[in-house]
Amino acid sequence: MFEEIQVKKALNRIKATSKITLPYHWDLNIYRGCEHGCNYCFAMYSHSYLEKKDKYSFAEEEVYPSAGEEKCAFFQRICVKTNIIEALDKQLGARSWKKEVINIGGVCDSYQPAEAKYRLMRKVLELMIEHRNPVTISTKSDLILRDYDLLSELAELTYVNIAVTVTTMDEKLSSLLEPLASSPEKRFSVLRAFKDTASVTGLHMMPVLPFLTDSSQNLDKILSLAAECKVNYALPGILYLRGETRKHFFNFLELNYPELLDPYCRMYKKGGDSRTYKAELYRVLKLLMDKYHISGDYMKPMQAKFSSPIQLKLTDFF
Ligand code: SF4
Repeated sequence: MFEEIQVKKALNRIKATSKITLPYHWDLNIYRGCEHGCNYCFAMYSHSYLEKKDKYSFAEEEVYPSAGEEKCAFFQRICVKTNIIEALDKQLGARSWKKEVINIGGVCDSYQPAEAKYRLMRKVLELMIEHRNPVTISTKSDLILRDYDLLSELAELTYVNIAVTVTTMDEKLSSLLEPLASSPEKRFSVLRAFKDTASVTGLHMMPVLPFLTDSSQNLDKILSLAAECKVNYALPGILYLRGETRKHFFNFLELNYPELLDPYCRMYKKGGDSRTYKAELYRVLKLLMDKYHISGDYMKPMQAKFSSPIQLKLTDFF
């Protein structure tokens, strides 16, 4: 279900946390909710959280689902910010705007199925080109290839980071875990295509799911394909479960992998994962990344791009 809404601002400042250092401080989400339906989605909380914060976007009489149904709301009720282009243009054009890197799609996938209908990303990218604004985009959809021309053009002007998330090469498992996302093979076709552009490309291997996607064969296959695509970096990350995501994922396990409920309960007593398991997983990942000469440093290509002469054009400062 699509619901067209209006927003006051397009860009949101990301709150700094002591745990993670991000290479950007601004988020742009053109949708709220995500049809890809990943059963481990960390952003499920955002529908109810944002609704409380941002009441003016919705009709007063709207009835919200109970906590147990929130998961369905996030995947099924997609809010489309139809005035996002006007709001973004205003923010990018403000004198105070310093052309900081914008992360497009922090709590939803900008190339989810709704985008095939609304085509907002093309207009967003046209604005980014006009303002020469650096961006990062992470997706699980090959719909991003539709905007190959605009992304290539923007990458000639400034920093563009295109990352693809792949958790498993097992098509069947992927369609269970991430029902409406593109197949893993199609996601790699995105990295293959963009390696010939000036953009930085990355592989996000997250989350790694204990007992489901953590076999060394699966991790090896993903990293070997990433190496073929000449990605600039890979970022692995283990599954973290909290709040709505925790409830939803345990329901998913109960339905599909009941034998994994006990091991997961032991491992995820709180939100995190067992330290021993994590240390071993990262040891294996490091070995594999070394094997394929893949860097884990996503800051380096950004710093290299920003120190290149193309960034010093005088027009950028006016
Ligand atoms: S693509 Fe990302 S935002 Fe969308 S459902 Fe999957 S994890 Fe959540």
